[in-house]
Amino acid sequence: MQAKILGSAAGGGFPQWNCACPNCHAVRSGQFKGKPRLQTQVAVKTEDGPGFLLGASPYVRSQIESSPELHPANMGPRNSPISGVVLASADLDHVLGLLLLRELQPLRVCASEFVVKTVRDENSMFRMLNRVAGLVKWQTIRAGDPFTLQSLAGDGGAISCRAVAVSSHYPAYATQTRQSKEAVLGLILTASSGATLGFFPQLAQLTSELKDLFATLDCLLLDGTFWSDDELIRLQGFGQRAHEMGHVPVGGEDGTLRQLAGLTKPRRMYIHINNTNPMLNEAGAEYRQVRDSGWELAEDGCQLSL
Ligand SMILES: [Zn+2]
Repeated sequence: MQAKILGSAAGGGFPQWNCACPNCHAVRSGQFKGKPRLQTQVAVKTEDGPGFLLGASPYVRSQIESSPELHPANMGPRNSPISGVVLASADLDHVLGLLLLRELQPLRVCASEFVVKTVRDENSMFRMLNRVAGLVKWQTIRAGDPFTLQSLAGDGGAISCRAVAVSSHYPAYATQTRQSKEAVLGLILTASSGATLGFFPQLAQLTSELKDLFATLDCLLLDGTFWSDDELIRLQGFGQRAHEMGHVPVGGEDGTLRQLAGLTKPRRMYIHINNTNPMLNEAGAEYRQVRDSGWELAEDGCQLSL
């Protein structure tokens, strides 16, 4: 299985269009030691099998175009090696790309019941995906129940996937009366080789069960949204804490870097990194701390073989 990181930033990307925080300002002025990033999205594929996207970012078109292996393989009208999308949440930056994938292409969209109802049933624009009956199949997945990544025609199955319920945090646009422990999922993908990849772009709480699970993985892509709990408040003078937004920060006493210090097996990468996060600055102390702890920052275009 090949997994390609097509984007590694949190909502808004890096730099974000209306942000002049120290990171965004430095990138635009050419003074930044670090890399711009598009919104988080990962493509997974076996050599002959169907490709799947983990998340559908607002930059899905350019993310596909920058990856020749995701281009249509055959001359002629519409075709694509991408057979589907697995959604981990209903966050806008995680689902908006679905609207850009609407060009009469058969797709399987795997998501929790909460996400299907929130995205498809409450937002009429997403009906565009089903203007031809059966063209897009929404497959409801449940935490703990394994499923395989198969095209609508039944091709594939070499990659199996299992969802883990991570959080009941729902996006601000969602109906507040609906609650679900499966509003945010983590995904464990298992290749035919047996190698495992964990995709956890949102981590609301680091439980002992999750710590045990992470220790078994070969590669872990983990929530790197914020360095500190009050990061946005300190920069903007207002806003929510990282925990209130459903993210455990990377740094600090209770941060994932310290809490997961004993993790040695998996290749460990932070993904879904917000533009305000100081660890993006490769000349800074936070970046050094991350690297010295054996972690990497996921980068757009990074390829993982599993
Ligand atoms: Zn910024």
